[in-house]
Amino acid sequence: MLIDIHCHIDLYDNPQKIISDCNNHDIYILSVTTTPKAWEFTNKICSTNNRIKTALGFHPQIVSQRYEEIKLFDELLPRVKYIGEIGLDGSYEFKVSFDQQLSIFRHILKSVKQDGGKIMSIHSRNAAMFVLEELKLSEGIPILHWFSGNKTELDKAIQQGCWFSVGLPMIMSKKGRIIISSIPKQRLLTETDAPFNKYKNNILMPWDIELIFPELSHIWNISIEESIEIVFSNFRKLLTTI
Ligand code: MN
Repeated sequence: MLIDIHCHIDLYDNPQKIISDCNNHDIYILSVTTTPKAWEFTNKICSTNNRIKTALGFHPQIVSQRYEEIKLFDELLPRVKYIGEIGLDGSYEFKVSFDQQLSIFRHILKSVKQDGGKIMSIHSRNAAMFVLEELKLSEGIPILHWFSGNKTELDKAIQQGCWFSVGLPMIMSKKGRIIISSIPKQRLLTETDAPFNKYKNNILMPWDIELIFPELSHIWNISIEESIEIVFSNFRKLLTTI
């Protein structure tokens, strides 16, 4: 059984086709969204496949244009078990909105805490320390998606109980492989972050996540089958936490 814990199904050209094609694969998917407005429709189409769940998200790169959607976020929150994509982006092009990002992220974490905690898929590009500071007071399970922080930040994240979701671009880079080898095996999940990522010039499909296992089994020094089993058992454990 495969796991894609961070996939933007609604952003494919034909999401319904992807959702129906997923029936031909043994895969569980967390379909993350980037704005609260996208949740209702995405959840509706994904609900046709009971192995796909839809997360309520508010992507840090677009919060400044859609600030007012935070009200909708709070309205929808009691209906969901999964949150994402949320977080902070400290990259040069998004620095200008960092204060707004921070206020939205804080608001979301507070709302999630009041609602009893959720599983959260979190973006932390160039902002890992800020994200980890905010998470200290949060409730639920944070999954750091495509983590790219330094060693100090990684150690802090592990110490704070964060989980990690890793994908093909990450495992194909040297820096990514070093991070992956330091992540505790029992806190690792797999993700495509599709359709943003390509592999050998093709847009990734959720089931392409199986391509990560030869690499992962190499890093872990175990068989491909054992690696698949570890990630699946992590996923099952995650579901029992909330
Ligand atoms: Mn994403």
